[in-house]
Amino acid sequence: MKPEQRLQSQITAYLRQNDHFINKTQAGPGTDIGTPDIITIDKHGRFLGLEIKRPDGKGTVSVEQKAVGNQIKRNGGRWEVIDSMTKFLEVMTDVEQLF
Ligand SMILES: [Mg+2]
Repeated sequence: MKPEQRLQSQITAYLRQNDHFINKTQAGPGTDIGTPDIITIDKHGRFLGLEIKRPDGKGTVSVEQKAVGNQIKRNGGRWEVIDSMTKFLEVMTDVEQLF
């Protein structure tokens, strides 16, 4: 398993354990370009789109991914680029402190 896939699996496991709605998207026909890798909604209805990148920092965010991220944010959701479990847990702590 590639490091990026391993990170994605760790994140989906965490979200499932914490009772989030979760949708893993797949690149390819049927998925709009730029859609975050993981779309999740927590028990307070907060929408979070996660764009997962490889942990070595060499991943790049595409123009389409940024555009979708900005649209999510304009509509009151949260969008984050995640390249480590540490970053993910920081985001989750931040989100949980909103309530
Ligand atoms: Mg990705």
